[in-house]
Amino acid sequence: MKDPLQTTPEMRSKSPLDKQAWSQQHYGSGFNDARPLMNVKILGNGGALNEGLRFNAFIINGQSLVETPPDICSSLYENAIKVENIQEIFISPFHGDHYFGFPYLALKQFALKKPLSVRLLGPRGLKNRITGIIDLAFGDHHPILDWMEEHYLFEEIDENTRCNFAQGQISTVPMNHIVENYGFRLPGKMDFLYFSDSIWDPRLLEYIKNDSTILMDINGSEGNNSIHASERDVVEHLLPALGENSLVYGTHVQQYRESSVPKLIYAQAGETIVIQH
Ligand SMILES: [Zn+2]
Repeated sequence: MKDPLQTTPEMRSKSPLDKQAWSQQHYGSGFNDARPLMNVKILGNGGALNEGLRFNAFIINGQSLVETPPDICSSLYENAIKVENIQEIFISPFHGDHYFGFPYLALKQFALKKPLSVRLLGPRGLKNRITGIIDLAFGDHHPILDWMEEHYLFEEIDENTRCNFAQGQISTVPMNHIVENYGFRLPGKMDFLYFSDSIWDPRLLEYIKNDSTILMDINGSEGNNSIHASERDVVEHLLPALGENSLVYGTHVQQYRESSVPKLIYAQAGETIVIQH
């Protein structure tokens, strides 16, 4: 019997996306327990103010993009990632360095004229924010907005969100930042955690349950630590709380940095972090 949740590209181009159909199409009917290694490709490691770095963004398994900074299209191009492979996008806060590249990414998808279906996750007010920035970029009522109605699924996240992402199930991690902002925890044999922009907050430790690979903002290392965590926070508060196989990757930095601290690595654009998942 034909599965009622299965949709063809023709159907998809006519009907708005719904969450169940999206999950069925991209994940199948259930999760595979024997999940393969997870790849986290660093597209950029720069903070809002930086010296010649690509802005902070990464993509998991070539399909789950996190952040759409102003230079996201260039970063994707440099890493030979086709925009049609992006199935879902996570935006952590509505700050320009995390979403001002979205209109140009959407424009590339729109121009492909292919039956894409993309899930977009972001904080409260997501659809208004996205509509607003597309209006600013291309003028009011650009056809891209109608196209997005059919090809995009908008999902607001909050501090209680548990949902599919990157072929697993994430839970959001609230950040302590000047605007609403969420990282996430993706459990596995080795957990993957993304701590987006945040000052150091001891509550972050509550999300560490296993050996973990943590990608985190340490923009405060250059003295900006009233808004961002710093290398010193990692050394004093985070590393002592981690299991022996855990690693911390620093990102969202101001300039090229190398670490002399064991288990702390500065993520670099183009690098792939492989996680036993
Ligand atoms: Zn930022």
